[in-house]
Amino acid sequence: MPSETATPAPHLHDLTRPALGALLADWGFGAYHRDLLWTGLYRQRAESLDTVEGLRPDLRTALTERTRLEPLVAPHHESFSSDGLTHKLLLRLRDGQTIETVLMRFKGRATVCISTQAGCAMGCVFCATGQMGLARHLTPGEIVGQVLHVTRILDASGESLRNIVLMGMGEPLHNYEHTLAAVDILVDALGLAIGPRFITLSTVGVVPGIRRLADEERPVQLAVSLHGATDAERAALVPAGRRWPLDELMDACRYYIARRGRRIFFEWTLIEGRNDTAEHAHTLGRLLGGMDAHVNVIPLNPTVGYDGGPSTAPAVRAFQDVLTTYGVPSTVRQRRGIDIDAGCGQLKAEVERRTRRSLPIAP
Ligand code: SAH
Ligand code: SF4
Repeated sequence: MPSETATPAPHLHDLTRPALGALLADWGFGAYHRDLLWTGLYRQRAESLDTVEGLRPDLRTALTERTRLEPLVAPHHESFSSDGLTHKLLLRLRDGQTIETVLMRFKGRATVCISTQAGCAMGCVFCATGQMGLARHLTPGEIVGQVLHVTRILDASGESLRNIVLMGMGEPLHNYEHTLAAVDILVDALGLAIGPRFITLSTVGVVPGIRRLADEERPVQLAVSLHGATDAERAALVPAGRRWPLDELMDACRYYIARRGRRIFFEWTLIEGRNDTAEHAHTLGRLLGGMDAHVNVIPLNPTVGYDGGPSTAPAVRAFQDVLTTYGVPSTVRQRRGIDIDAGCGQLKAEVERRTRRSLPIAP
């Protein structure tokens, strides 16, 4: 009889290939069996051990008795943008928490935006997820499960997934171990084989996490959410800015660029009148000038809990023009699927509001 304190059976989608190999090696099965199981999990996208082809019966029995392989995410609510290109999913975890995953199809290339936490502890004032607070970290399997879920959707229409952005709910570097284990699973060449440079990890600026990432061999793309270029202005939007001030953050970013030899993307959500004037652009230009940096400006997607609005198109252009004078390149990123609440945390917030008021949920 297993005791109540016994470690629960591991979920197979929580394990990197080396970790799976170590588990199987303990039972006397070598790399051949590990890789057969791995390709079953990630190439065949098996949802049960019964459908993994070629497993030795004694291994199948051991796995059935000592591991788990149930789906970790299940559809709870979904909606499509009016152009049909953005498919927003609210997925339910096994404990009832819900998280957002957004599948975007653009010019034959699919991108998925995934969550790393249920909620977020960082409290950025304009962000629907920040307005909820943190419920819990996601496990590696729950992070990978979102990708498997959309991969099955794409499989059905013969499409494939190219980009993954860790820009859904949560702060990836606040859930460092699980997020990076998930990245290792996603890039594994025998499995989903997503190119590491097609994975973008976006952080609010968790300095110890950026430094740690700089020292590791995980060639993902790093994006840092800035939104303010002085400590006072940034902290008003991003409370985490008080914990990790800009001088520490920029030092960590320079360290990352030097160690990894990679540019960093800086995200700047443009909020009318708050951080979108020429003066703001000059301050940002001075902060980033001379660095290997690229700025993504994103007009605010308004949320119920915040009274700011998006910058106008001329203000966005003027902001970019100032950055250009400092030699800082920038791109405007529209938050796609605004008509279906496809901003971070917004679908969950809307579904919960409507459920509370027993209103129908918009398609
Ligand atoms: N926690 C990480 C990743 C998730 S948020 C981070 O903050 O970087 C991904 C991006 O969406 C961040 O740049 C965030 O500031 C931005 N964002 C959040 N809510 C938004 C909104 N309502 N409108 C525009 N951008 C938003
Ligand atoms: Fe968290 Fe990112 Fe939202 Fe800030 S913007 S609250 S860090 S998810």
